[in-house]
Amino acid sequence: MACQKNPYPNQYLALRALNAILAAGKQGKQPARAYPCHECHRWHLTSKRLTGKLPKWEQKLSRS
Ligand SMILES: [Zn+2]
Repeated sequence: MACQKNPYPNQYLALRALNAILAAGKQGKQPARAYPCHECHRWHLTSKRLTGKLPKWEQKLSRS
């Protein structure tokens, strides 16, 4: 089944799109983070809050 969400080819582009959306400052639901999709193997944005520890793809980011 195809994903309904907007796909981004990699984490960098997903985060860049996320920042652009936040910078636009529209009202309503805002995406909060990017995550890799198991269905289409690309990246999507989600407005879900993080619960628990950082996912491993974000740990990789902050370690650099
Ligand atoms: Zn997907």
